[in-house]
Amino acid sequence: MMNTSRLLNTDSPANNGALLSVVLSSDDLPTLPTVASKLLSLTSREDTTLSDIADLVVQDIALSSKILKVANSAFYNFPQQIGSIPQAVSLLGTNAVKSLVLSFSFLSMNKGGAQTKFDFDKFWERSFTAAIGAKLILARVPGAEAEEVFLPALLKNLGELVLACTLPEEYEAVWAAADDTLGDNRDAEMSALGADHCLVGYEVAKHWGFPLSISLPILHHHDPMGYAGNEGEINLSTRAIYLSEILMNIFYSDKPEEFYCQFQAEAAQLFSLKPKCIEAIMEEAHLQLEEGAATFGLKVESTRPVQEILQEANIRLSLLNLDYDQVNKELIKAKISLEKLTKDLQHKNKLLKDLADVDGLTGIYNNRYFQGALDKELNRSARHGKPLSLVFVDIDHFKSFNDEHGHLVGDFVLTEFCKVMSENLREYDILARYGGEEFVVVLPETNEENACLVAEKLRAAVAAQAFSEGREKYSVTASFGIASIDEHSEFAPDKTELIRMADEAVYDAKKKGRNRVAVHSVKKKWYKLA
Ligand code: GH3
Ligand code: MG
Ligand code: MG
Repeated sequence: MMNTSRLLNTDSPANNGALLSVVLSSDDLPTLPTVASKLLSLTSREDTTLSDIADLVVQDIALSSKILKVANSAFYNFPQQIGSIPQAVSLLGTNAVKSLVLSFSFLSMNKGGAQTKFDFDKFWERSFTAAIGAKLILARVPGAEAEEVFLPALLKNLGELVLACTLPEEYEAVWAAADDTLGDNRDAEMSALGADHCLVGYEVAKHWGFPLSISLPILHHHDPMGYAGNEGEINLSTRAIYLSEILMNIFYSDKPEEFYCQFQAEAAQLFSLKPKCIEAIMEEAHLQLEEGAATFGLKVESTRPVQEILQEANIRLSLLNLDYDQVNKELIKAKISLEKLTKDLQHKNKLLKDLADVDGLTGIYNNRYFQGALDKELNRSARHGKPLSLVFVDIDHFKSFNDEHGHLVGDFVLTEFCKVMSENLREYDILARYGGEEFVVVLPETNEENACLVAEKLRAAVAAQAFSEGREKYSVTASFGIASIDEHSEFAPDKTELIRMADEAVYDAKKKGRNRVAVHSVKKKWYKLA
């Protein structure tokens, strides 16, 4: 490839020539198929006959079948079946066939060996949309030859294609710098390359021998008033092509409503088209585009009716402008109240859980909690090979106590009794109310001997306590039954068994006179206290 950097580093108008010679002599300049270029030179001669043209076209079988397909399609809406190229040429006319040959040539052009990220499919799709649009527009203009505009409209951005093929890196930079690939990039092209795609397209079209009716609209398609000549046909084509680009943007840009307004205003100004007429063009565009693309064998992203596009744009706009703040505020509010709710719930759950574990009268753990805690401690003891003791506690003659002092005093004593017990236990010991005036103490990592010491300490503390309410003082005693799991013993009772053993030990303590500690063991050791 040619070194272009020296040639492109200036933005002086004189650079035009340098750029164009680089482009036109580039190995990567797309070439027209032979049939197309032969056809161009043939049609530029005065003495060419219809059969000369037909003879040329039939040489390319693939091209001939494509032309017959289009000639018989709704694109022309011809009343009779066209069965051959000579028939097509005589029925459609030289210009229509020429236009078809060149359109197919252009549409089949690809990037060849050029290393470019230029999206050819998108390019064809948009060019084709514009060509259909330009034809639709001119069909509404009295005295205009709608057929003639299709080819120059299809080729209007030829310069972009050529630049992408011949100067891929430089042109990519222009596109990358543009914030909208649908916008007018002429200024960016001028400052980076020294010429815009209109001029490049025009020069290449000239180089290929295209007539002025094609090359001039390419040159002026962004600025229809820039055409100073007096060729009526070129003038009409240029304006229609200019409008077709706006129409195309309604379909492909993300601001369809802006291009819709622009199209309405400029169509009225350039062709004095009535609003109804403009509406009809926009309604037809989408249908013709789908049909045309199928006929030309072109892949076109499925388009939608303009009304639908605009409706969606309106919804988007109203959501964006009117409801965004509102929606945002609501979302924030909802989030805050949800967070608060979650916190409240967490707090309440904790309270509920605590309540579910705690005995309502005494404030110590209840039986439910004790069962779970004993399960865990039994597991831990088994896993780590550590001893565990369970102490059952039953207040002595409490029925009589109630009978004598009343239930309220009984309740008071139960509560105070638990305080004394708690004060004489370690942090890891678990004191729970088993039910009524019966209590349990789980002593983790405590063997039988130490459990006896603990139980004895508790027993003595209870017996020594004077529970005073008002002026009255009350005292109670309790009987203690111990069941232990020894780390050295083979005997490993389960939970039910351990509870039964402790219960049995209490029963023994009661039998032996109460206010004492009894141990459930094979040897049945008894601890009698003074
Ligand atoms: P023993 O020495 O054999 O254990 O005799 P006891 O009277 O303590 O045993 P018994 O099981 O016959 O009676 C238990 C009493 O404990 C009966 C009941 O009135 C009393 N009691 C159980 N729960 C409560 C309570 O919540 N409040 C009060 N005030 N008394 C209770
Ligand atoms: Mg009892
Ligand atoms: Mg009792």
